[in-house]
Amino acid sequence: MAKRDYYDVLGVPKNATEEDIKKAYRKLAMKHHPDRNQGEGDDTKKSEEKFKEVKEAYEMLSDAQKRAAYDQHGHAGVDPNRGGPGAEGMGGFAEAFGDIFGDIFNGGRRGGGGQQVYRGSDLSYAMEISLEEAAHGKDAQIRIPSWDTCDTCKGSGAKPGTSAKTCSTCNGGGTVHMRQGFFSIQQTCPHCHGSGKIIPEPCTTCSGAGKIKRQKTLEVKIPAGINEGMRIRSAGNGEPGTNGGPAGDLYIEIRIKEHDIVERDGDDLHCTVPVSFTTVALGGSIEVPTLAGKAEIELPEGTQHGKTFRLRGKGIKGLRSSYPGDLYAHVSVETPVKLTEHQRKLLKELDESLKKGGEKHSPNAKSWTDRVKDLFK
Ligand SMILES: [Zn+2]
Ligand SMILES: [Zn+2]
Repeated sequence: MAKRDYYDVLGVPKNATEEDIKKAYRKLAMKHHPDRNQGEGDDTKKSEEKFKEVKEAYEMLSDAQKRAAYDQHGHAGVDPNRGGPGAEGMGGFAEAFGDIFGDIFNGGRRGGGGQQVYRGSDLSYAMEISLEEAAHGKDAQIRIPSWDTCDTCKGSGAKPGTSAKTCSTCNGGGTVHMRQGFFSIQQTCPHCHGSGKIIPEPCTTCSGAGKIKRQKTLEVKIPAGINEGMRIRSAGNGEPGTNGGPAGDLYIEIRIKEHDIVERDGDDLHCTVPVSFTTVALGGSIEVPTLAGKAEIELPEGTQHGKTFRLRGKGIKGLRSSYPGDLYAHVSVETPVKLTEHQRKLLKELDESLKKGGEKHSPNAKSWTDRVKDLFK
């Protein structure tokens, strides 16, 4: 019988990605796995053959070199039964499932010593910085947990003079096989929790862990322009792995303290500047705080409440921005309070004088009155 095209077998297009191929294989392998199709005679044989076909196609197409050879020369390019470079023997079903399903069902992978190897957990650290620090960057030092080998037991976890014993449940392998549904899966040994060892008399210093938690100081560079909620990754500074697995990472999450005066909006800053009504009426200069010192704004005569002045480039240069943002100063006219008799008299005089001048002194009131008039026409 002529051999079917590997791509057809897996039901994937010629340009399928590795991920597509893996996915298709998983699906078909589950469907045709002999353990799942233990029916009568012929059916079982058929599913076994199907499974072999699927497995062969996967083995060829998941290997970049073999896939290239197959794409060029078809079945002649890759003979699965031929030995030699690149062609591996056909492993048993268990082997195929170990490779493929291992990463779904086990958090870790098998280490050289036959023990379950786990990557350490990631740690997160919340760091609060000021808006100025966020704008300009900062070299910070943080204290994070670190783990040292226990001096008392030299890392074995056993009380000095005693030693660890091989776990009898898993015979030191750290894993046990559990039959679940149609296939057998590997699980961490519940007795020794994957270490493969049982410590009858744990070291009292580390309670049998073999390591001691300490603190260490870590230098962290906070880049200029960082914003609220962004995370800085410090590779390998998380919890240590188990049985020689790699350490997790440390994530420093940035919180920015509320600023007394300015508010951040992306790369722009906003501040509200209280100005006396005489200053806005007569005009004058006001001082505006920026993150790099003070700036002055000249208010023209007759500046209205709510008027916004833009200070170009006085905002923050974001992490991925080419230019800094702007600072917006919003004028907030302040009504004078706690007047003296004299001031009250002056204001009354002013009020009468303004009334005499009529609408020309109140541009907003004029347009407002006009609009109200229109409304009741
Ligand atoms: Zn110890
Ligand atoms: Zn065990």
